[in-house]
Amino acid sequence: MNDHARHEHHDFLNAVGQALADPPLQAALTRLTDTLLAGNRRAYAALAESDALRDHAKRIKEHTLAHLDQYLEQLEASVSRLGGHVHWATTAEDARRIVLEIAQNAGCKRVVKSKSMTTEEVHLNPAMEAAGLEVTETDFGEFIIQLAGERPSHLVAPAVHHTRESIARLLSEYTGDAMPDDPASLAQTGRRLLRDKFARADMGISGANFAVAETGTIVLVSNEGNARLTTTCPRVHVALMGIEKVIPRLIDLPVFLKLLARAATGQTLSVYTTLITGPRRPGEQDGPEEFHLVLLDNGRSRVLASPFRESLQCIRCGACLNACPVYRRIGGHAYGGVYSGPIGSILTPLYDSLSANPHLPHASSLCGACLTACPVKINIPHMLIGLRELQTRGKAKKSVLERLGYGLSAAVLRRPWLYQLALRAARMLLRPLARDGWLKRLPGPGSAWTTTRDFPAPAARSFRERWIELNK
Ligand code: SF4
Repeated sequence: MNDHARHEHHDFLNAVGQALADPPLQAALTRLTDTLLAGNRRAYAALAESDALRDHAKRIKEHTLAHLDQYLEQLEASVSRLGGHVHWATTAEDARRIVLEIAQNAGCKRVVKSKSMTTEEVHLNPAMEAAGLEVTETDFGEFIIQLAGERPSHLVAPAVHHTRESIARLLSEYTGDAMPDDPASLAQTGRRLLRDKFARADMGISGANFAVAETGTIVLVSNEGNARLTTTCPRVHVALMGIEKVIPRLIDLPVFLKLLARAATGQTLSVYTTLITGPRRPGEQDGPEEFHLVLLDNGRSRVLASPFRESLQCIRCGACLNACPVYRRIGGHAYGGVYSGPIGSILTPLYDSLSANPHLPHASSLCGACLTACPVKINIPHMLIGLRELQTRGKAKKSVLERLGYGLSAAVLRRPWLYQLALRAARMLLRPLARDGWLKRLPGPGSAWTTTRDFPAPAARSFRERWIELNK
């Protein structure tokens, strides 16, 4: 089993059923995604020439990915010049080993982490805990799901599936004191618990939203102060980032900063934007003594060389999740992987395997809402179709029924007279069964459609017939 394939036996359809039958989850998803999506639309509308800015961001990403090797080497040189250490991790296993070695060499015992999907991707926490380290997630949402032993269910709001009652219960179990479930008390409790962890930690682990090749600067974007505390309080800071997060120059950064918060939450800028350029220098008041940057491949080079390269442009804003009619109903856990929503439906099959995640490319209506919401205009629907095509090509043999169906439709579509005849036959057969323009039940293979939704009844007159009439 490869490292991405922790959820090889994930039963997508079963998980979808469970999510749909969970009213509190449905209410939480609607509340969150409605709010974030409205923010995204408002922010794009208020930003002058937002469309041109998004095109510009895309061009920077395209250019960077086309010269990724050069920019990564430049980043390594810049970080090393500042006194930092750069490590290359080909696989998730490499990344875990490297981080553990850094901890062991520096004699670290207590680790605080700021929110990082990349550390989730490599399953860092279980490895560190197994090695005897105390690991604490310090983003409040991440802390909650760590207590619950779960995975994040949204890129930006990892604990969206929790209510304040469930958060109070988890904190009560953790502290041994009964907690009231009002948000202010819960936040105060979280702050008190986490401040203590920061004060005692000797290692801080973060991700990186961006890394600037030119200057060796690591950029962290967050709404809680935890990322700053994580990267400045402990004496060792390790940043783990996917190799696609590099950007060429500092001047490119504002383009992404302008888009990221707007796309994610509708904010003009996140509350904290932290730029870290090397470890603490002589005379500085704070900052770590050691800084390590771990550059993770874990399948990205393979994706770079594939027709799915565009997926590497993702800046993990979560906007496509909020816009997607499928994610909005089923939430993040149903997807089974670390990444969820439309972009997760591409990343999980690519990084893990398509055969282990056969449902994901189909977890989309291809409505294009993700593309509209995406700050770098990633053509997610196009890539989902590409994955579907791979699945079909990969099939050794089609069933007799499939071959018959495709043969029949090809024969009909090639002959206009036969197509019209088939339409008339369908109209004659189906219209009497329709009610208010909809068919509630279709026979044979069509029943798979009508078990979950109605099917539109054929029109009384076809477009062609109406066109001929109009021309008369
Ligand atoms: S694909 Fe686009 S919208 Fe979705 S998370 Fe990535 S950058 Fe954001």
